[in-house]
Amino acid sequence: MEPVELNVSRREGKETISVLWSDGHRSNYDSFELRNACPCAMCQGEPGIFGRIYTQSRTEVRVDIVPDEIETVGRYGLKITWSDGHNLGIYTFDYLRKLCGCEGCNKSQ
Ligand SMILES: [Zn+2]
Ligand SMILES: [Zn+2]
Repeated sequence: MEPVELNVSRREGKETISVLWSDGHRSNYDSFELRNACPCAMCQGEPGIFGRIYTQSRTEVRVDIVPDEIETVGRYGLKITWSDGHNLGIYTFDYLRKLCGCEGCNKSQ
């Protein structure tokens, strides 16, 4: 699965990242939720013996976070540079698709 179209738009006062997938499915992601779902070790914590360990440096995500730049990484993911300067997470297409919160995707899970 690959995104064929990527849009960032403002809806109801929120920045929304919209992805059209190669199978015709469209996913809409709220910037704030997507930023919180950042898969990097700094945001998700390093896996340790007792599960995930959250580092002290984990910063609170601002509600008004917006993506400054979205780049594709190879053929497998997206790298998003956020307005808070964070750009360590690579959102793989698989991961992104799983994050889709639409009714259709929720049902099939
Ligand atoms: Zn991160
Ligand atoms: Zn969906």
